[in-house]
Amino acid sequence: MSLQISALLGVIVTLVIAIYAFKKQQLTEKGTIAAMLVGITLFSLGGWSWFALLVFFFLSSSLLSKYKKTQKFEFTKEHEKRDQRDVWQVFANSLPAAVVAAVYFIYPSPAVFAAFVAAVATVNADTWATEIGLLDKKTYWILSGKPAKQGRSGAVSVTGLVAAAVASVFITVSALALSALNNLLLQSYSFEEVFATQFIGGIPFILMVAFSGFFGCIADSVLGATVQARYCCPKCKKMTEKVFHGCGTRTTIKQGFALLDNDSVNFLASIAGGVFAYCLALVFL
Ligand SMILES: [Zn+2]
Repeated sequence: MSLQISALLGVIVTLVIAIYAFKKQQLTEKGTIAAMLVGITLFSLGGWSWFALLVFFFLSSSLLSKYKKTQKFEFTKEHEKRDQRDVWQVFANSLPAAVVAAVYFIYPSPAVFAAFVAAVATVNADTWATEIGLLDKKTYWILSGKPAKQGRSGAVSVTGLVAAAVASVFITVSALALSALNNLLLQSYSFEEVFATQFIGGIPFILMVAFSGFFGCIADSVLGATVQARYCCPKCKKMTEKVFHGCGTRTTIKQGFALLDNDSVNFLASIAGGVFAYCLALVFL
């Protein structure tokens, strides 16, 4: 499709959704601008269906974060941030996908499409696993298998793992459904200016990409348990992911690297999921 038309459509649609999300306090000011930049990139370079896939992730995650919110608050207050997504959170969850869209624009191939869907599936799996897994009381450290406190980065539960798998399949199947709808619209109305034919994979594509999303989510937990920064409040002697504890005291780093917070781990995991799917697709597709 013509780049000018898709970019224009992208600006309009993204603006409407971003303003709505900002008003609903889902995004901070800078987070709104970041989301718009990513949205326009996806719309222009990947097409409306790529953009819609990220909206699916954003909407389902926002809905899930509201589910049993008060019950979950107890376990998430030691997290760095909650609720309103800031610029880093937005970029961590969507920049890998946006970069893949740019690659696809220059070099379209089913393997690059697989990488895009897997990058989104990874962040979706991680978010669903966190939001639903938090409600499971039996939580274990991913590497040692020892019991862990609910809500810690690197801790997993059976409920969370099932949620991750379902979330990854959800994004993969949605991506193919959106591509199919795109192609149907193209056939029925022949708006060649607006729609480009999209690749639709079958069962092998679904299996490979959904598995890659799940793999990315596991990579997220492993990184969360090993290299992600973990701090201790010298006053309360409590472990936290925050640089400043809830009591106002500056915390000291106890484990991991200061540069690697929850956002950078999400970012790396999304890349891992995408690269994994790309390799699988090159070999098997
Ligand atoms: Zn404290």
